[in-house]
Amino acid sequence: DLRLSDRLSAASPSATGAVSELARRLAAQGRSIISLSEGELDFDTPAHIQHAAIKGIVDGHTRYTGVGGSPALKAAIVRKFARDNGLDYTESEVIAATGAKQILFNAMLATIDPGDEAIIVAPFWVSYSEMVKIAGGEPVVVTPGEGRNFKITPEELAARITPRTRWLILNAPCNPSGALYTRDELRALADVVRRHPRLMVLSDDIYEKIVYEGEFTSFVQAAPDMRERTLTVNGVSKTYAMTGWRLGYAGGPAWLIKGLELLQSQSTSNPSSVSQVAAAAALDGPQEFLDGWRDRLRARRDMALSILQGAAPLLTVARPPAAFYLFANCAGAIGARTPKGDRISTDSDLARYLIEEAGVAVVPGTAFGLAPYLRLAFALSDERLKLACEQIVAACALLT
Ligand code: PLP
Repeated sequence: DLRLSDRLSAASPSATGAVSELARRLAAQGRSIISLSEGELDFDTPAHIQHAAIKGIVDGHTRYTGVGGSPALKAAIVRKFARDNGLDYTESEVIAATGAKQILFNAMLATIDPGDEAIIVAPFWVSYSEMVKIAGGEPVVVTPGEGRNFKITPEELAARITPRTRWLILNAPCNPSGALYTRDELRALADVVRRHPRLMVLSDDIYEKIVYEGEFTSFVQAAPDMRERTLTVNGVSKTYAMTGWRLGYAGGPAWLIKGLELLQSQSTSNPSSVSQVAAAAALDGPQEFLDGWRDRLRARRDMALSILQGAAPLLTVARPPAAFYLFANCAGAIGARTPKGDRISTDSDLARYLIEEAGVAVVPGTAFGLAPYLRLAFALSDERLKLACEQIVAACALLT
């Protein structure tokens, strides 16, 4: 009989996809829907990067490159890690891939045997748990205690480590919570990791440049002796508004980077040669414009927060120090009734109500392993963001 593999039946499709699907269906019926569900900047890829890519095509950068990236891009990645993070990777310790997503997926496939465990902090980016499952492992979800700004303590980490634990997956700034760990907090986590020689750390730094308050520190920067068992993952998608170019990169121990190259060599080969040229231009080019982008995002964050105060106590929203998402607690709306008389029992019910009543697409916290919450991305134009927040407040006012 015709069927998918057991490996695939363990995984579920992206829950952010389900929201987008409903939004698309309503839009096709002529409804105007504002999407706060996309993890993507509305800015254009900067002109100097566009031009470098066009020149790259004309100059013939249109062929296969080395599987893990061209020497030119690898050199740019090495320079980036040194300049921004104080990390001294060599060219055999870095790799470029088709998005950070490919690196994360391949890292799980390269290291997880059946029954191995990976520790993930809730709320978490939706793909980590499914990647671990597809690789044959078990995601172990740790939910930080209340009032800790969505960050785990060393004790919470220590309590969940077993002889089967292979990975601690850290994502700071975090999608969806915006959580950012201080250097001391990372050091304290490293103190726990150090006691378990089989445990590795995946540091997903993709939102590194989008920090409003506090300072970004990469895990190995905080604990240099963790270098040999940390995979430091980053990419150009979120920093340079380059989601569609599909270019991510990582630094880590040579044996692991070699494993990732092996997987790429038998699946996708090199990431797009044109995107590699663009990424090198992004990493080596001017960085000052990022300050302006960050200020615009901060202003959007603050505007959205002030409008959404109007929906308290149904929604209570903490100010995220980083990334471009609000993670709104919606416990106050659970149990309420809609004007049509439907009961809101879960955050997914509330997300559905907001699409239908407010015309705004958001993602329920359930998708990120923590309920009842809503994730609202604020990386869209000021006007649309303002309208969306006002419509959410108006729709919340109709709940009884
Ligand atoms: N890691 C996190 C936390 C993300 O939010 C995303 C994208 O949404 C990615 C990784 C994947 O990024 P890329 O576009 O480089 O594959």
